[in-house]
Amino acid sequence: MNTGYLKVDPEKPEENIIEEAAEVIRAGGLVAFPTETVYGLGGDAFMAESSKKIYAAKGRPSDNPLIVHIADIEAAEKAGSDIPGEFYLLSDAFWPGPLTMIVKRNPDMPLETTGGLDTVAMRMPSHPVAEALIRASGGFIAAPSANASGRPSPTTAKHVKDDLDGRIDLILDGGSCSIGLESTIVDLSCGKPQILRPGFITKEMLEDVLGGVDLDPTLFKPSAGRPKAPGMRYRHYAPQGEMHIYIGEQQAVSSRINAELDKAKAYGRRCGVICTEETKDKYAADMVVSVGSREDVKGAAAEIYSVLREFDDRGIEVICSEAFSEEGYGLALMNRLYKACGYQVVRV
Ligand code: AMP
Ligand code: MG
Repeated sequence: MNTGYLKVDPEKPEENIIEEAAEVIRAGGLVAFPTETVYGLGGDAFMAESSKKIYAAKGRPSDNPLIVHIADIEAAEKAGSDIPGEFYLLSDAFWPGPLTMIVKRNPDMPLETTGGLDTVAMRMPSHPVAEALIRASGGFIAAPSANASGRPSPTTAKHVKDDLDGRIDLILDGGSCSIGLESTIVDLSCGKPQILRPGFITKEMLEDVLGGVDLDPTLFKPSAGRPKAPGMRYRHYAPQGEMHIYIGEQQAVSSRINAELDKAKAYGRRCGVICTEETKDKYAADMVVSVGSREDVKGAAAEIYSVLREFDDRGIEVICSEAFSEEGYGLALMNRLYKACGYQVVRV
């Protein structure tokens, strides 16, 4: 398949470009498009065949459900059913934006889209290109992240092209994604709201609206059982190099990372370090990447997937990462780092 590639204005998307992309989706094809979180790979959520194509293009297991993207609140009633009051409280507070909510599936929503589950995940993105495309293509776009399964989520159109060129119909290039981590997922389908995936909308922000919210206990402790979001079960976001996270007092962490780098270099292995502006001068490696100031979690989160991909592109075999605070939005960043390294944590 020849994959089309169109640049689109991320703030004021050109009508003719959106129409061309919407026509692809209405005809049952796949379009990668920018959102404020990461790039999505979209198809018509009500066409079972489109959802099957999404799984095939990504190499994604078909029991891993897609998120249904909508552009107005009326659409929620057509995708879901028995929608609880919490859904409307949270949509008022955070939509359009980086929050995905899970409710009971509407019987009309194909099981191919929900990965066979009787629930459906919904999100209303704020990115103007996403919003325009959803409206123009009929109101319901099923989309997971537009990466090949097992690679870091794409935050630029180039990342999408690297993974999916020749496998999808069209890529809309609207520049880089401002948030850079996938949406927060909160399950409202069974009693007390539970966060299945941390993201930009934090536990504290959700609790300000709802009161108590739980965290899926498996998020930071894989031994705690089976994660409720099927996607969180797979080894995701994995760079090709062997990666460890070093947690502890800053000076001790830097010394330990340098010792590991010396060891790896002695074996002739290519090394990379993920660190911050405050520490970047302490390391010598093939790639030393500062993701910004230690205080700026938002900046670090926006960079992290690009950095992991660059390590792959440059053949880095050993990756040492500093740790970040798990307060607030830091929880989402650390969750992705833990997953990237397969929970290989070294406490210094
Ligand atoms: P992605 O956008 O690629 O991160 O994929 C969507 C994520 O949402 C995956 O982690 C899915 O497992 C999760 N998800 C989608 N629908 C549901 C659902 N009905 N129940 C639980 N998790 C879901
Ligand atoms: Mg994904």
